[in-house]
Amino acid sequence: MSSGWHTAEHRSRRIKGMESAQEPLIGADAVFAFTGTALRREEKWAREAAGTGPQEKDLVLVLDDEGRAPFAPASGRIRRVPADRLDPDATDRREWVFLGVDAAGHRHWAALLMPGAADRLFAAGDEVQWQDPRRLAGQVTAAARSGRQPDHDSGDLAAARALLFWHRDHRHCPGCGAVMTVVEAGAARHCADCGRTVFARVDPAVLVLVHAGDRCVLARGRGFPEGMYSTIAGFLRPGESLEQAVAREIAEELGLRPQGRPCYVASQPWPFPHSLMTGFLQEVDRTPLRCDETELADARWFRRKEVLRLLEDSAAGRRGALFIPPPLALAHHLIALWARR
Ligand SMILES: [Zn+2]
Repeated sequence: MSSGWHTAEHRSRRIKGMESAQEPLIGADAVFAFTGTALRREEKWAREAAGTGPQEKDLVLVLDDEGRAPFAPASGRIRRVPADRLDPDATDRREWVFLGVDAAGHRHWAALLMPGAADRLFAAGDEVQWQDPRRLAGQVTAAARSGRQPDHDSGDLAAARALLFWHRDHRHCPGCGAVMTVVEAGAARHCADCGRTVFARVDPAVLVLVHAGDRCVLARGRGFPEGMYSTIAGFLRPGESLEQAVAREIAEELGLRPQGRPCYVASQPWPFPHSLMTGFLQEVDRTPLRCDETELADARWFRRKEVLRLLEDSAAGRRGALFIPPPLALAHHLIALWARR
């Protein structure tokens, strides 16, 4: 696992014209946050789980009402809870979602805890910290990247966070307004009144590292922490392809014109609330950019050596006046891929 990113770098260095690359720019073994899992979710198991519901010895990934998960620092993993240890009033069992089956044959579910239930779940001696999913995913993927321990958690966390909060926020039928029930082991909700079934949705977005020659564009979104610069980003509009979204975001946010097709790099689930980030490199005409001030606080051209310095700061854990997102975010890897090729 640890060699994944290096493999990708080495591979990318061999590629002269990136747009004509035949092999992926990032190796299949690269470690991205919110993708690691040791579970398999075959359809027959999901059907079986939907039929029986949770059983006593099944394991549950619980999130508190703010989306935090119990992290056990000693093991470096999320603590799963046996289903029979959860009080009937700690969760609503009808709202549990099935995540999959592990190598030992245990079935795994995810459940949202009622307010206050997290405080009563573990004994005082249990070394458990309730952690924000971003922080937790950052920790487990850093461990995986350094080769200490494979990431068998962050993908389950992403699935749990995205599915449980989607269910929480979509209780009512969009057709008739009646309360819908969880079906297909958590993949969907169904309305018994009008017969409608609604599947949990994923909202695709594009992240684009815009480059021309020895420079790339990094931008500050309006909500960014002070000093942070990243790739531009935007959600797809209905009826739009990924390629069209890339071109539109570049034109709208930067006033620049793409040269050739965008080069797809990788994707990453981003369960806040239920997005899929798709990462691209896009070459553009090297012209002055015009920053869209309704979307961005700032955008500018950076020289490669400046970007390499920002990457060094990031690797050393330093935060200068300017900094880029941590390796938790796909944007970090797009920036690194371009700068180090
Ligand atoms: Zn209905």
